[in-house]
Amino acid sequence: MADNKRVLENLRACRERIRRAEAEYNRPANSVQLLAISKNRDAESIAAAVAGDQWRFGEARVQEALPKIDALRSFESADKRIEWHFIGPIQSNKTRAIAENFAWVHSVCRPSIAERLSAQRPEGLEPLNICAQINISGEATKSGVAPDAAEALVRAICDLPRLRLRGLMTIPSRELDREAQRRAYAAFRQLFEPLADAYRLDTLSAGMSEDFEAAIAEGSTMVRVGRGIFGEIPGHVHA
Ligand SMILES: *Cc1c(COP(=O)(O)O)cnc(C)c1O
Repeated sequence: MADNKRVLENLRACRERIRRAEAEYNRPANSVQLLAISKNRDAESIAAAVAGDQWRFGEARVQEALPKIDALRSFESADKRIEWHFIGPIQSNKTRAIAENFAWVHSVCRPSIAERLSAQRPEGLEPLNICAQINISGEATKSGVAPDAAEALVRAICDLPRLRLRGLMTIPSRELDREAQRRAYAAFRQLFEPLADAYRLDTLSAGMSEDFEAAIAEGSTMVRVGRGIFGEIPGHVHA
């Protein structure tokens, strides 16, 4: 059962944290967007967030996402659409479903995946917005390309006709100390800035429930928050 009231309270608190961090780190007001990560959450919980005026959601598994995308259509109107972002690992046999059902993909790590997404993006839809995923902390378990391979990936994506390259995404190693969090995001920003100039990127997808203030301090334009909105998943041990 979704605890709808709790979702609304968390959403409000999360927006407040974002606005406070923008002010503290001299970022323009409302320059950081909130992407609600709804993986492992049911359609009812997502509907509760929509009722709180949240229209941007991130999902990590295609099979899990498609029925939820269908179920949430009844909450959409001609001028209020839910914007679905794909943030998980991408197998090549899933690219068609992603290209057909999502507005954004944050987790492109290979040119071959980008080529499939471009080829499979339906003509009637806007180009698919793309972030290249970078493994900024170099952890073996994390997806994304190494920083020194970032530009080659960006170059491979930017000319594909049905994609719109928007920026970079990263999931740094989990640090509880704010200074350690900032060091990782500072490295990410240093990688981003020259590429943003050269390729006209506008999106730095960085920051999660526990570290998004540090990401905002280092230039994040989109934070991805799951537990901070929907609460802890019972019995789930965070890696
Ligand atoms: C799950 C997930 C998040 C959200 O993490 P929380 O700690 O629940 O905020 C953000 N980004 C990605 C890529 C994720 O897979």
